[in-house]
Formats: sequence, C-alpha cells, structure tokens
Amino acid sequence: MNIEKKRISICHTEKGEFGHISLDKLAKPETVKVTLLGEPLIPESFDYFGHPKFTIEQGLLFMYKENELNRQYGSKFTPLEAEITYEELNFDVTRKTFDTLRGIKNSLTNLSDLNNMLQSRKIFYKANGINLNQFILFGCFYLDKFGQVLSIEKADKGKFICHSEIEHFDTFLKNNNTQEIVFTSNGYSIPTSGDICPCCGKKFTIDDIKNNSCVFESGKLYHNNCWRNYRKLKEIYMFTNQLMDLVYKETDYHFSLLPNGYLNTYDYSYIPWFLFHTIDGDIIIGHLKNSISIEWQENYKSFNFNNIFISENVTKWQDNGKRHICATDMPTAYKYLEKVVKTINPSYSPF
Ligand SMILES: [Zn+2]
Repeated sequence: MNIEKKRISICHTEKGEFGHISLDKLAKPETVKVTLLGEPLIPESFDYFGHPKFTIEQGLLFMYKENELNRQYGSKFTPLEAEITYEELNFDVTRKTFDTLRGIKNSLTNLSDLNNMLQSRKIFYKANGINLNQFILFGCFYLDKFGQVLSIEKADKGKFICHSEIEHFDTFLKNNNTQEIVFTSNGYSIPTSGDICPCCGKKFTIDDIKNNSCVFESGKLYHNNCWRNYRKLKEIYMFTNQLMDLVYKETDYHFSLLPNGYLNTYDYSYIPWFLFHTIDGDIIIGHLKNSISIEWQENYKSFNFNNIFISENVTKWQDNGKRHICATDMPTAYKYLEKVVKTINPSYSPF
C-alpha cells in the first residue's frame, strides 16, 4: 500500500475544469482512498493512471479551505494536503502492441482498440519514464515519445506526404519539408468510443477519424464537416432571422453569401459574410473578431452618415460612396441599421 500527501490542483482543459491529484505511481482506482482534514473525499472519477479526479466544486472547496487555514494561522504559506492511500497498478501490456508499426496497425480496426492503444502509450511512459517510438497516424496525428497525441494544423490537412495509415515519424519527416510542419494540441481530436457528434447524432467511428476528422469546438467534439456546416447555418440564421428581418420586411430584401472578409483563413472560412440587396440598396455585413462590420454600398440611398453616427465612438469611415461602421454586438448592429432606415424613410416598418 502506498501513502502520499498531495494538494488538489485545478485543471483547465477544453472539456472543462476539474480538481486533480497527480500521484507518484500508477494506481488501481478501486483501491484509492482520499482523506482531507480527517474526512473522506470521494473522487468523481480517475484518469488513465488511476489518479483521482474531482468535481470543480471539490477542487475549489479545497482551495477555499487552504486559503482560510492560512488566513487563520499566520503569514507563511502552509499547503493543505490530502492523504491518499492506494495500491500500485502493474502495467503489463506488451510494448510491441502500442510501440511498433504492426502493433499500432492492429489497433486501427475500431475506435475502442485505438483508444486503448493510445492509453497504453501514455501509461507506459508515465510508469517507466522511457521514451516511446514516434509515429504519424492517418497523416495528421503525431504520437510523440511522451505518449501524447498532437495533430497537424487544421489548415494543413492533406498537405503532407504520408504513404500509409501509420508510419514512423522519421519517415514522415524525410518525405516532407519539416519547416512547414506545425503540431498543435488544439487541431484535430480523437474521440472516445461511444462519444456522439451533437450535430448528426452518430457515434464516432474509426473511419471518421481517418476521413473526416473531429474537432473540439465550444467544449464539444464534432465531426469537422458537421461543425462547419452547423456554424455556417447558425451565422445565416443570426444575420437574417435575428437581424435583417427586424430592419426590413422579408420580402423587401434578399441576400447572397460572401467569403469571410476578415478571418479568411481555413479556421473561419466557413463563417460567411452577407451581401444584402434591400429595397434601399446593398449592405455588406459580417463578423469581425469581436464586432460586426456594416458597410452601406454606393448604390444604397444617401443619408447623412456623419450626423447620424456623430456620437458613436467606434471605427467608421466613408469612401467613394461606401459608408462603413463597426458595431460592437448584434443589438448595436440592429440599432445602426434601423437608424439609417428611419432616416431614409421615417414611416417604414418591417412588421
Ligand atoms: Zn456529425
């Protein structure tokens, strides 16, 4: 039986926040007992290494208590420690099943086997501290020597030469311009067997990872294509149903989509901008990073731009008949558009 004294740390990940204790050795989860200030503390779950994970509330309660005790007992910081007893887990998975081309290839028949293989790499490194062999999986995932999985940037998908589903990292480096390769922890993700894409409702499969790729966005895992389509339709809904429909009657405008005029990189190319053809003329609208760009085009009826927006302390300009202003959010965008329509035609109502 092992006994350790440790603090609870708060982890921030894309999946959320939680409390965590990192033990010195691998643990059998069913044997782990945690005591804090004489009271048992029940972990919410365990990580790959059998180390206890706690809810964010448990983690924060620990922090509040530690803070309170230090306030009471003097100026020098004294860490509050939980006591953990556990039995060590002997990791006995054969190394060739997760650290050779053949072993990894055998794990590629389904998602669950792939998950287990990747987990074995992590545990092996944690237990032994021995560097693993390095591989490239499906041309985009980098299995590094520490058991971590990184991926190439989303924009680089399909850009690099890779001759098989799994190949040695050295081979991959030899066949490609290494200066162009960037690995990131927030590119593609590998879901856990049983996870479901919230858009299409389908369980992720190994083929999804191979062909479509999965992404973490706003704290959830999606098929890459599902996410892009969802996000695009959401943008269209916001700018039509929740904005333009409040300014013009549905029959008084139509629109076409434009390429994103601000963040026209791969990551944002699926979020369109809009060219609205209204009864008063054309307006181009679209999201900037933290604001909304509105540009009344040359053919839009004339109005006294300077007068209308004199008190608005935001980016605005006029050039060759175009009039441009940045709205801080959707309600402000609505306010600006409506102000102009009311000036041109005070009796007009969209309803
Ligand atoms: Zn999907």
